[in-house]
Formats: sequence, structure tokens, C-alpha cells
Amino acid sequence: MSRIFVVANQKGGVGKTTTTVNLAAALDQLGQRVLLVDLDPQGNATMGCGIDKRTLPRSVYQVLIGQSSVAEAAQPTPHGGFRVLPANRELAGAEVELVDLDRRELRLRDALTAVDADFDVVLVDCPPSLSMLTLNGLCAAHGVIIPMQCEYYALEGLSDLVNSIKKVHANFNTRLKVIGLLRVMFDPRMMLSQQVSEQLSQHFGDKVFKAIIPRNVRLAEAPSHGMPGVVFDPLSKGARGYVEFAAELIERLRSLPDD
Ligand code: ADP
Ligand code: MG
Repeated sequence: MSRIFVVANQKGGVGKTTTTVNLAAALDQLGQRVLLVDLDPQGNATMGCGIDKRTLPRSVYQVLIGQSSVAEAAQPTPHGGFRVLPANRELAGAEVELVDLDRRELRLRDALTAVDADFDVVLVDCPPSLSMLTLNGLCAAHGVIIPMQCEYYALEGLSDLVNSIKKVHANFNTRLKVIGLLRVMFDPRMMLSQQVSEQLSQHFGDKVFKAIIPRNVRLAEAPSHGMPGVVFDPLSKGARGYVEFAAELIERLRSLPDD
């Protein structure tokens, strides 16, 4: 049985895609069978995995509108070891088209049941909004991983996200829970980073992952080489942060009940 996690935060530029791609690669290195689902029409996760979004034979778009299975549309990553259900701009159209379809919130969930036995972990990269696409991600998932920058405004957005997760839990998906908050782009020299980090721990207790992802330029450079940072420069601080995080996540899953 696969565990499905969405990496969500309705803010843009907070490290969702970087987290999804690097966590996928790190989990692969730790022996997990991983599928990454790119649910963002920008296709950044697709490109960051070394797959050209301009030449996709099939994408998550066809899967959501029922024209392709996940197995048919997913591709292996050239360097990462995991598989990717890729996305490109075509996916923006799904937002409108889904409205007229049956079980519109559950299209991704339904499609993923066919590959349940093929992967240990499915990671879904969401767009920076609480759209129909993100809703499909949340309805498919067992849990949400929330990457956060330790800045003052980060906390403000968080309550909106937590409220949305509660609504999805109540209306569509009772198995959904917040798995944890991941501190990313962390700069230990900044007082504010330290303070916000402490506030997070006070509010959310052990929901805050112990692993911390530092601000590290190698993580930002890796996508232009079409590789996860974890593969591009495994010894960098950023890569080591993600491998540590992957190990902590696997540990945390052991204590999560099945469904
Ligand atoms: P999102 O998917 O939430 O929009 P991204 O993962 O695309 O965010 O990250 C936004 C930008 O920040 C990208 O240019 C990315 O390379 C950079 N970035 C993300 N995490 C880090 C990090 N830990 N250190 C340095 N740069 C980072
Ligand atoms: Mg992104």
C-alpha cells in the first residue's frame, strides 16, 4: 500500500517544489519506491527532475480528465531513481474542465488506486493556491507536509492552510492529517529565523520536524541541471538536510496507523 503525501502551502516560493523533488530523491536513496505527482501547471517539479515539460507524451492532465492511466503517463527520472507523473501548462485547463466531471475532487485519488501496490510513497507537488488541483491533491492524500520559511508572515498564511485542511477532512477525506511542518531555507544567523522557529515549536509541538533544511545555493542550482539537489551535490548541506528529513519521515510513518 502506498502512502500519499501532498506538499502544500498556498504561498508561492516557499520551497514546495524543492522539497517534493528532493524528498522524492532522498526517499529513493533510502530504498523506497517513489512516485512524484506534479500538480502545478508551471511544471517546475517536472523540469527539476530532468523531464522536459514541452515534450510530454502524456501528463497528469490526461490522467485527471480520464484519458490516461497513471502507469501510462508516469515516466522514470533520468537521475533520481523515482518516477514522475509530469505536468505542463495544459494542466491549467483542467481547473475548468474538472468542474463538469464526476467526482471532480476525487479524480487524482481514484487514478492513484490503480498504482497502490507499485509505490511505497507518492508525493504530490501542489500549486500555490487552494484551487481544484490542490483540492484533488488533498483529497487523495493521507497527509500534508507543510514547508515553511521561518519569517513573520509565514505564520499568517498557515492558519488559512490549516483551516482548508480541516474542511477537506470534514467533507471529503477523513484520513487526511497534517504530518508535519518542515522548516526550509533556514538561516541560523538570523534572529528572526530562530524566533519564528521557536514559535512554531510552541504552537505545533512535535508536528514540527526535527530536520531543518538550510538555505543552500546548491539546492537552487540543481534544477537548472535537471537534477534533485540530493543527486546533484549529495554532500551539500541542503542535500544532507533532505536525506535527514526523509529518514525522519520514514520513522514517523511507522507510528501512523494504516488509513
Ligand atoms: P514553491 O514551489 O513553493 O514555489 P520553490 O521550491 O520553487 O518554491 O522555491 C522557490 C525558490 O527558492 C527557487 O528558486 C528555489 O530554487 C529556491 N529554494 C528553495 N529552497 C531553497 C533552499 N533551501 N536554499 C536555497 N534556495 C532554495
Ligand atoms: Mg512550486
